[in-house]
Amino acid sequence: MADSTRGVGKGEAIVAAADTPLLMINAPLVASRLGYPDLSGLDLLELYAFIHPARFVVPTPKGLAHALGLDEPVADDKVPLLLQEAAEALLATCERTDWAEREGAWTALQSLVRMRWPWSTLLTPRIKKPEKAERWLFARLPEWEEAPERPQPAQVTLSDQAIATRLAELTGAGAETRPTQREYARETGRTFAPRGALRQPHVVLAQAGTGTGKTFGYLAPASLWAEQSGGTVWVSTFTKALQRQLRRESRRAFPAERNGKPPVVVRKGRENYLCLLNLEDALQGGFGGRAAILAQLVARWAAYSQDGDMIGGDLPGWLGTLFRKRGIAALTDQRGECVYAGCPHYRKCFIERASRASAQAELVIANHALVMVNAARGRDPAQRPTRIVFDEGHHVFEAADSTFSSALTGAETIELRRWVIGPEAKSRGRRRGLSARLADVTSYDEEGGRAVEQARHAAEALPSEGWLARIVEGTPLGPIEDLLSAARALTYARDESGGQDAGYALETEVAQLDGAFIEVAGRAQEALESLRKPLVRLGLRLEALIEDGPDWLDGPARARIEGARGAIGWRTDLLAGWIALLARLGGPGDPDFVDWLSVERSDGREWDVGLHRHYLDPMKPFAETVLAPAHGVMMTSATLRDGDDWDSAVQRSGAPHLDLAPRLFAADSPFDYANQAEVLIVTDVAKGDIPGLAAAYGRLIEASGGGALGLFTAIRRLRAVYGRIADRLARGGLPLFAQHVDPIDTGTLVDIFRDDPRASLLGTDALRDGVDVPGHSLRLVIMEQVPWPKPSILHRARRLANHGKGGGGQAYDDRIIRARLAQAFGRLIRSADDKGHFVVLSSAFPSRLLSAFPPGTPIRRVTLDAALQSVAASVSGAEAAAKRPEGIS
Ligand code: SF4
Repeated sequence: MADSTRGVGKGEAIVAAADTPLLMINAPLVASRLGYPDLSGLDLLELYAFIHPARFVVPTPKGLAHALGLDEPVADDKVPLLLQEAAEALLATCERTDWAEREGAWTALQSLVRMRWPWSTLLTPRIKKPEKAERWLFARLPEWEEAPERPQPAQVTLSDQAIATRLAELTGAGAETRPTQREYARETGRTFAPRGALRQPHVVLAQAGTGTGKTFGYLAPASLWAEQSGGTVWVSTFTKALQRQLRRESRRAFPAERNGKPPVVVRKGRENYLCLLNLEDALQGGFGGRAAILAQLVARWAAYSQDGDMIGGDLPGWLGTLFRKRGIAALTDQRGECVYAGCPHYRKCFIERASRASAQAELVIANHALVMVNAARGRDPAQRPTRIVFDEGHHVFEAADSTFSSALTGAETIELRRWVIGPEAKSRGRRRGLSARLADVTSYDEEGGRAVEQARHAAEALPSEGWLARIVEGTPLGPIEDLLSAARALTYARDESGGQDAGYALETEVAQLDGAFIEVAGRAQEALESLRKPLVRLGLRLEALIEDGPDWLDGPARARIEGARGAIGWRTDLLAGWIALLARLGGPGDPDFVDWLSVERSDGREWDVGLHRHYLDPMKPFAETVLAPAHGVMMTSATLRDGDDWDSAVQRSGAPHLDLAPRLFAADSPFDYANQAEVLIVTDVAKGDIPGLAAAYGRLIEASGGGALGLFTAIRRLRAVYGRIADRLARGGLPLFAQHVDPIDTGTLVDIFRDDPRASLLGTDALRDGVDVPGHSLRLVIMEQVPWPKPSILHRARRLANHGKGGGGQAYDDRIIRARLAQAFGRLIRSADDKGHFVVLSSAFPSRLLSAFPPGTPIRRVTLDAALQSVAASVSGAEAAAKRPEGIS
């Protein structure tokens, strides 16, 4: 083991890495830092993924040291030695008898040897061939079991005392100690009371300032109700971070197992889970080169995974990015091609397991979009949520907006074509069209067979491979490509957003369309109708078969047909949405909707073109689909209302659409903001001055010694700032990470940031309220400017509608900005011991926005120099306090 370390320049490092495979952590990140994309080597993360699949590790030297029980490196020059020790420790694990993940390793290694995986030569002498044949992945996974349908939940009213007692059990504290949390729990309990009238669920809106103890506050009554009634409570989040936290915290409220079943189940959209059939295909040659190695490592993980969740579950978020391709997405069921019971792995399928488990669960942890989709088209009533707690409730509007929208675009339509027709070119893999998936039905049922054939024929009118290039060249093929081509031309002709030169997305409203456009749209509409009709007929045929099936229709075949019927159902809905969108082009506008044309672009490169329709108020369909059938719904968040005003929170709950008045509850944060936080509005960094902005970020991060979260409203500015300061900060021992720059997924970036108090992180929207980093690691939040809403066509329409209601356009914008500021500020103080600064670099910060910050928070308008002094003083004060002997205050 070499223990001398020498500093080298980028050039020498690149030459060294090209000569010999070097030991490193996260090769793509090293490559991006060196500016040498082809870098490869012996990546310790790949070895870790092989030795300890499904085990968490922060992908940094320090993180690896912790995971392996080694001393963390005290300085950068100790990292090379640590890497060698870590490699030794990992390789030595293979020779230990207590290696928990041994099963399957030898078999996987044989394939990896053939693929010339760099680690395989070092592993081969250490992993002995097992005496008995190993159980390989598919043999190792357990089968799920069918369970009988559950009876309706019992009608139960929870007593305040019972809720308080359960809460005390969960928090482990005396029930008297947190009166606000008790009140909050009691209010939540009202959500679960028996419903008095049809379409009149209990709706509770509860704002709970950070630190109220909201999670246990709702888990207490939820767990009590589920236990007493035998029903299911759905807790829905917007971010994966909160979902992970809930999974952890729910362990206190529910046992690991009740009657042999897990009472808590995490549910996500099916595109999050590993599809075993796709994996088998990848392992058998569907993936080549480096992607084949990824497939082997994913197979190792799948054998040990808790639930097969690839996105935000126990598959390390960094694994996919190590392989730089869309490998992970190709292993999930992205395109709804599941063949259900026709799949050899159906009884072991992770998706089917999660779906069955949730029908039996007491608590389902899901996300807003999935709750809405399940309410709209859950496969059976047991899957439909009726008691729902929407945590991060301020995002329900946004989630409803995207769930109930329609997008007739190139990317969407080609997906539909592939789903109907199947592979057309010499594509690899198992993808099959509708007729292959329903071969047995079509050979038995003549009418069903005809419907499939007609649908297949009609789908040929949809865009095919190469559609975008044809549209750009002006040579579209078929009625839908004609429509997309016309939409693109019109968007370029009319867009005045200023985004043309900057390479951003372009859009224009659907208005004043000429006769030629309407004609093209009419032909597209006819083409879509010709596809929808046979699909509707096919859906009816399948329904008849399920009702009154032939003898050969056994359980698995029935399940497969039910699956196909569900998939056809939502595609006919999709088509109906598109047809409705086209049907009213040129006619009078429908005040319920906002329609526009768009060309999606990033960095000047086009990637989609199409027509969009959103509800002006998406809470209208939400109220019908989610609220009306529910019995109790709570929306909760630290930032639900605007200051003391409930108006917009009530509007945005959807309750008024059912003539419901929700119960309202608010609890202030228990934190002492006057002493824990300070807002600094920096007045001397000019808007648009990128070098000035970058310098301000760099100096603020230096003043706080890292621990800064930098928030941007535009990726372009984020990159520009990062490019100017990252190297300098790194040389000073202050690592800087950035979304949209570093080849690392957002969840892992936050893990790295949390783990290193000297690290800083730059990001955009997703970080504004998806980051929960209590303690010293986050002590400074910097916002580049006032977070104005993007002036899109949809935003303009809603702003106008608000004007009509007397609120005024500016009031509408202000509310959005205050909500964003409040969410961003909420990242700073996460516990009673947290301290920190919130800095906005804005020379013109309107006073009317200041109410976004919690009452009592000191706010000062200062120059950058004064801000730097404040930040530096509080950091040195905290360090001095940390060094002070105990007992002296
Ligand atoms: S049942 Fe469907 S999702 Fe599950 S493994 Fe088979 S094809 Fe994939």
